[in-house]
Amino acid sequence: MEMRADLVIVGAGMVGSALALALQHSGLDILLVDGSPLSVKPFDQSAAFEPRVSALSMASQRILERVGAWPGIEARRTSPYGEMQVWDGSGTGQIHFSAASVHAEVLGHIVENRVIQDALLEQLHDTDLGLLANARLEQLRHSGDDWLLTLADGRTVRTPLVIAADGANSAVRRLAGCATREWDYLHHAIVTSVRCSQPHQLTAWQRFTDDGPLAFLPLAREDGSQGWCSIVWSTTPTQAERLMALDNDEFCRELGKAFEWRLGQVLEADPRLCIPLRQRHAKRYVEPGLALIGDAAHTIHPLAGQGVNLGFLDAAVLAEVLLHAVERGENIADERVLSRFERRRMPHNLAMMAAMEGFQRLFQADPLPIRWLRNSGLNLVDGLAEGKALFVRQALGLSGDLPALAKA
Ligand SMILES: Cc1cc2nc3c(=O)[nH]c(=O)nc-3n(C[C@H](O)[C@H](O)[C@H](O)COP(=O)(O)OP(=O)(O)OC[C@H]3O[C@@H](n4cnc5c(N)ncnc54)[C@H](O)[C@@H]3O)c2cc1C
Repeated sequence: MEMRADLVIVGAGMVGSALALALQHSGLDILLVDGSPLSVKPFDQSAAFEPRVSALSMASQRILERVGAWPGIEARRTSPYGEMQVWDGSGTGQIHFSAASVHAEVLGHIVENRVIQDALLEQLHDTDLGLLANARLEQLRHSGDDWLLTLADGRTVRTPLVIAADGANSAVRRLAGCATREWDYLHHAIVTSVRCSQPHQLTAWQRFTDDGPLAFLPLAREDGSQGWCSIVWSTTPTQAERLMALDNDEFCRELGKAFEWRLGQVLEADPRLCIPLRQRHAKRYVEPGLALIGDAAHTIHPLAGQGVNLGFLDAAVLAEVLLHAVERGENIADERVLSRFERRRMPHNLAMMAAMEGFQRLFQADPLPIRWLRNSGLNLVDGLAEGKALFVRQALGLSGDLPALAKA
């Protein structure tokens, strides 16, 4: 049986789900397809933390509020953070950011990806948007003016507009032949949750080590204790392999040392995940009848925790562009319409990716003069209230060309 839709979103991850919800009152016949079961797990406050978390910016929080998912996130588990401490492990440079410096209540929230995903799915199940679970896209081809999608179970869908929200290894991007620029960071990220002997003080901590950045992000427990942190330890593949092979006690000891025991001893660690890091950017986000959003369009180093924040902004801008086009009676699959999305998002995403690349290179540079410059630079910027406020506004996601969904 062949299905039809005005618009098919492939991938009901965090970004694809947010886009579908933002378009729920568009009057368009929307189908969201995903290879996974898309079921919402009952949430247990006392359960162990999921290893994958995101530092959500204020802009992402607003988008999630407007699509109705924020209450579901708050009802599960989220930790606000109001301060950020960053320092150079091989020198004296350090910098401190605070929400108070820009009269904000928080810099952001640390939320488990599963929590964000389930809160979005819960909303989706309450709408009359078409949702196909266990529906892995296997083939994509042009058929007249439309696309014909073939799913793993043999079902087919015809549509004039496909949105790729199917993540870093996007099948849509590959099947449609979209070109990318990509390179290895030669970094792997070890992620897990750990309990420290000292409280995290609702602060996001980041130490730049010789091998890469190590972040401790605050997690919330139902009893209000502040011992648990999510860690992202980016390091060379060889070092990552060694760290993954350590037993728990040895891992906790090495982690505490690499973090200069800023939060005391690392007392326990959950099972670790190791993720190879790769930078990838699609040369174009759109072509006639096709748009790429979220990780399908760009993946960036997690050192500033911006990946899904950029993805939510992609979703909010694309929704805005499509809603305007519907209002004006334009063809939403027309490349001229879709290019409005690309013009607004590509410069912003590229600037963020370049900044992360610059940071990563600066902190990996070993020559003494560069180390000296970077340490003095950090300390200098730390003393500049205006410069820091600019950076904080950027981190909150509140600068640049914001879609209505992310505005106050
Ligand atoms: C170590 C690490 C730490 C990070 N920390 C942060 C952070 O603090 N803050 C932040 O903003 N970002 C962070 N990120 C980035 C963030 O995790 C990603 O940007 C985000 O998960 C991308 O979301 P997405 O919805 O675009 O893709 P995904 O989450 O990958 O979702 C893709 C969806 O598509 C579906 N799918 C895939 N293929 C198919 C197919 N063929 N057919 C049908 N469905 C398909 C999948 O089932 C999935 O549901 C981090 C990344 C890493 C690696």
